[in-house]
Amino acid sequence: MQVDILAIGVHPDDVELSCSGTLLKHIAFGKSVGLLDLTLGEMGTRGNAELRTQEAMKATKIIGAAFRKQLHFEDCFFENNKTHLIEIIKVIREHKPQLVLCNAISDRHPDHGRAAKLVVDACFYSGLVKIDTKQPAWRPKAVYHYIQDNYIHPHFVVDVTAFADKKREAIMAYSSQFYNPDSKEPATPISSPEFLEALYSKMSIWGRTIGVRYAEGFTTARYPGVENLFDLI
Ligand SMILES: [Zn+2]
Repeated sequence: MQVDILAIGVHPDDVELSCSGTLLKHIAFGKSVGLLDLTLGEMGTRGNAELRTQEAMKATKIIGAAFRKQLHFEDCFFENNKTHLIEIIKVIREHKPQLVLCNAISDRHPDHGRAAKLVVDACFYSGLVKIDTKQPAWRPKAVYHYIQDNYIHPHFVVDVTAFADKKREAIMAYSSQFYNPDSKEPATPISSPEFLEALYSKMSIWGRTIGVRYAEGFTTARYPGVENLFDLI
């Protein structure tokens, strides 16, 4: 199945926290979206791989993505190596996305920046015909990095005001991870109500710059090119 956008996160919930408003919006535009988790987030303090996978599949339905795949790389200890590059390349070549969204270039969680580089490298190598996976070569037209926990100045922002509530619903599908007054598990830096408040505050700051309530921010290693300057207002 070919998709327009492949959104990749190293942990289940990265995509929901950082770019699910943009995904919901593009699905409403008629674009198709696939999701890919590189790990099961099994080293997270709360929950476990099985529970987080159930939560991820619930969030996938809320977003309306065409599919969600998980690659079972080792949480915290995966490396940017041939094995991992080839596994990501196989998914890119199978689904032929025009756009890939991936983790922030650097972040509080060290996996995020490492995964960002791994995905960028895989998108490039996927276009090399001599890397043989028994599939035609395919290079996405662009890779954009969503912004997650630490503040990074975005290169562009997407108005997600109309999808902010649905995004919150997708995030809260991960009931083991985020604020849940009934949870008996240890508190973590992402389980407080203030965490989501900070996330939406960032979205509010980016929204304000373009005169809307909420926006999601992205960075790109390559200059974005436009045909029409009016697409940028
Ligand atoms: Zn993460």
